[in-house]
Amino acid sequence: MSDLVLVINAGSSSLKYSLVDAASGDAMATGLVERIGESGSSQLHHGPNGEFHGDEPIATHEEALRTAIDAFATYGPSLGGTDLAAVGHRVVHGGARFSTPTLVDDALVAEVGELIPLAPLHNPANLEGIEVARRLFPDVPHVAVFDTAFHQTLPPYAYTYAAPFEWSRDHGIRRYGFHGTSHSFVSRLVAQMLGRHPGEVNLIVLHLGNGCSATAVRGGRSVDTSMGLTPLEGLVMGTRSGDIDPAIHGHLARELGWSIDEIDRVLNSESGLKGLTGDNDFREVLRRRDAGDVRAQLGFEVYCYRIRKYIGAYYAVLGTVDAVVFTAGVGQHSAEVRAASLQGLESLGISIDAGRNSEASGTGGVVSADDSRVAVLVVATNEEWEIARQALQIVRA
Ligand code: AMP
Repeated sequence: MSDLVLVINAGSSSLKYSLVDAASGDAMATGLVERIGESGSSQLHHGPNGEFHGDEPIATHEEALRTAIDAFATYGPSLGGTDLAAVGHRVVHGGARFSTPTLVDDALVAEVGELIPLAPLHNPANLEGIEVARRLFPDVPHVAVFDTAFHQTLPPYAYTYAAPFEWSRDHGIRRYGFHGTSHSFVSRLVAQMLGRHPGEVNLIVLHLGNGCSATAVRGGRSVDTSMGLTPLEGLVMGTRSGDIDPAIHGHLARELGWSIDEIDRVLNSESGLKGLTGDNDFREVLRRRDAGDVRAQLGFEVYCYRIRKYIGAYYAVLGTVDAVVFTAGVGQHSAEVRAASLQGLESLGISIDAGRNSEASGTGGVVSADDSRVAVLVVATNEEWEIARQALQIVRA
């Protein structure tokens, strides 16, 4: 029986997929269809027999997946001849209902539908991906893997907002946390790198990509995380503000006459590094900072200072910390961010080795100094592998 899992990540106008060997983590093929239902659709497929770039109009997610299946047939590996063990779907919001990956059936589809108010941008697209894939792969088990699931171990005092009790009881308003597949993957990998059982290690995991989140992991379980009801809370991100004074909403509405939708849009899409510097691509921020750009310098400082505050907070949450871990695009590649975020934390037993830090960008590894009580590691996350692994576990259970 094969260990091959087709991992699908459906966005509102995109479909990303990867055919993953869940045992080894090897991606046999990857692809991305973008601008579905818009002008300028594009398709990309990397397979063992070559790479395909398409620009035919693609109107629906069903068409996108059919086009992907055609690309598999031509550029490999053909799904017709492949014994798929499962299709694993990334689902952003599982609410308080889903703490584990779950086999897809009509009841799950209905329940994920009920969670749409908590993730109006993501869950409808994820559901569309599930529906389409179930139609096109009716004989393969489908598994939903939730971004929120890893954080369902947060204690009530960590997930409860200090607002009227009815908000959480009647409307599910609480911290859920996201990037769970990444935090879960990285936590297990780091325990392995340290030669310890995941149940024995305390970690602060910093996922710094376009979206950014920090998680306090105690003995392999998430006990606090920086994203909240939505992925807006916490660290500074590419285009999201992260933490701000909640009274800013009212101030913008009263003083500037902004609507709720406008405030939401600006905090999600026009804030963070983009709002501060004009650029959400971290490489561009670094380039401008090196050239002496004052706004890029400020953006960099706000970004790293916020990370440092969360490290301090989660250090206090955990009591003892075995490792601070950097992952995702910025975490993995920017020695500058790692150095600035950890600056001045020597008294907490955290110190990095400058040489190791600059060499680790891209390749990863241990970057702490030999006398650092807390290890500092740089690792590559692999959310597709984690989804494939979790999907296979459910199918084989
Ligand atoms: P991700 O969401 O994990 O793909 O990360 C995307 C972010 O990583 C973007 O802000 C990129 O600018 C950033 N990134 C990618 N490569 C580098 C690099 N070499 N140095 C700094 N940032 C990088």
